[in-house]
Amino acid sequence: MTASSGRRVLLAAPRGYCAGVDRAVIAVEKALEQYGAPVYVRHEIVHNKYVVQTLEKKGAIFVERTEEVPPGNIVMFSAHGVAPVVHEEAERGRLATIDATCPLVTKVHKEAVRFASEDYDILLIGHEGHEEVIGTSGEAPDHIQLVDGPEDVAKVEVRDPSRVVWLSQTTLSVDETMETVDALKEKFPQLVSPPSDDICYATQNRQLAVKQMGAEAELVIVVGSRNSSNSKRLVEVAKLAGAREAYLVDFASEIDEAWLEGVTTVGVTSGASVPEVLVEEVLALLAERGYGDVELVKAADEHIVFSLPKELRRDLREEAAALAAGRGGSGPAATSGE
Ligand code: SF4
Repeated sequence: MTASSGRRVLLAAPRGYCAGVDRAVIAVEKALEQYGAPVYVRHEIVHNKYVVQTLEKKGAIFVERTEEVPPGNIVMFSAHGVAPVVHEEAERGRLATIDATCPLVTKVHKEAVRFASEDYDILLIGHEGHEEVIGTSGEAPDHIQLVDGPEDVAKVEVRDPSRVVWLSQTTLSVDETMETVDALKEKFPQLVSPPSDDICYATQNRQLAVKQMGAEAELVIVVGSRNSSNSKRLVEVAKLAGAREAYLVDFASEIDEAWLEGVTTVGVTSGASVPEVLVEEVLALLAERGYGDVELVKAADEHIVFSLPKELRRDLREEAAALAAGRGGSGPAATSGE
């Protein structure tokens, strides 16, 4: 089959890795180079099966609980962030820590701490059980309550309706979150908003691109893992934007041929934790089936880059200084995170 059949692909831009994921993945790789394997990582460093499997092959060990890390080892915290109690667990377990929490998640943690110190009731919009929500809630458990969508608003109770603020998980659907906020504002007219958007730039831009392609694409394929919040949101946004069908796949091999029946235009995008190689495999499969024309649907330019976690930067600096002084590398163990 040839591209002249009118079959085409709309390829979202931006898609794939955001600055927080890029930083977290590089942090694991640098830590393995710097300290040697194993490097323990608490929770999946980012929610992507391929990334986790690739890092495991290089010597990373993923654990769900801090207590699983043997004393004296290094543990890295994932991009989703952790509650203060997890830092205490690491200290008790005599673990050196590297904190790969995305700076945009840290920003939400700081907002939670500040509003709690001013004795606000904090309504955290997010998905129950998500790692990021657990971490943020842990900053001020006595002040935060979770609101998991507009349908949760009816049951929200606060101590003083004049001191209420909403914050959110960074990877939510922008539109659904605004619905929840509107419902909360109706109930609590004095509700205070966060100082700046908690839903991060990467989540917003990927949703914007999918909205643009959703009206034209009959089928949208989102590359991403089932536990990736921002990837799952892209499927929902695609359907709301008009796509007849939208599916989440980890790998090109999961694409069902039946999805392509009668489809002229396929939209392709990927979540913020997805390496581009997985998108390339999807494009190659589609090209083999006649979808050779690829048009870019560009919603935004992204130039954000985050520096590596401070513990790694410090040790890498020391390593470079030692090498420059002709003393070889620094010791294998990182010191505790600041
Ligand atoms: S999706 Fe947003 S908050 Fe999450 S790691 Fe990426 S930039 Fe940070």
